[in-house]
Amino acid sequence: MRYDPDVPQIPHAALTTEDARMLHRMQDRGERVYLRLTMEAQTYPDVESRNVIAEIRGREFPDEVVVLGGHIDSWDVGQGAMDDGGGTVAAWEAVRLMHVLGMRPRRTVRVVLWTNEENGLRGGNAYRDNYADQLDKHVLAIESDGGVFKPSGFGFTGSDEAFEIVQQIGSLLDRIEAGTINRGGGGADIGPIMREGVPGAGLQVDGSKYFWFHHSHADTIDKLDPEEMARCVAAMAVLAYVVADLPEPLPR
Ligand SMILES: [Zn+2]
Repeated sequence: MRYDPDVPQIPHAALTTEDARMLHRMQDRGERVYLRLTMEAQTYPDVESRNVIAEIRGREFPDEVVVLGGHIDSWDVGQGAMDDGGGTVAAWEAVRLMHVLGMRPRRTVRVVLWTNEENGLRGGNAYRDNYADQLDKHVLAIESDGGVFKPSGFGFTGSDEAFEIVQQIGSLLDRIEAGTINRGGGGADIGPIMREGVPGAGLQVDGSKYFWFHHSHADTIDKLDPEEMARCVAAMAVLAYVVADLPEPLPR
């Protein structure tokens, strides 16, 4: 939600799907619908916050980095389980699995839980600024921010040469039907570093139910299916690990 500086700012609220459908049914019945909205949201002054970062240092090229994550903040209602708690935990779990299995790839794998995506992308922008002198050594950025439903693969933004390599890696995920690599994709939090030239990949999932929950009181942890979540973890882990362990860096 953004306002053009030249127009008056009109208050803006979100309804759940259930409420919107109820209003629709009332309208279809010919009822005249009146709404009273009580809105208490305010914008407070900025306070300090932080991205949460952990990494496995690469065994051969520690200054080359595969970064993966999601955003740790959420909308002000619900728990933010799908948007984006599930994505952050999937990324964290992918790196935790490498750690407990003793798998240390050639390059560094860094998990980042970006802060304040919903209210201005501050964490993603701060990451870009803090690592500005290292971004040419970031070989890939991966984000999950579409809910942790059954994954189908990734949307990839990068060179044709890199796309072919990522497609080959995707074939490792065909067994769990998560190996389809499409052209174009990324994520809000990795957007700032992608605009600096870092190739990006966004986890693609069955999004048919995402907006049942997204930014509403219904976005709670009971909506997460452990099997689908595990597949998201597997997809993130395989792409991050294999790219981090390629003999040559993923070409730009
Ligand atoms: Zn999100």
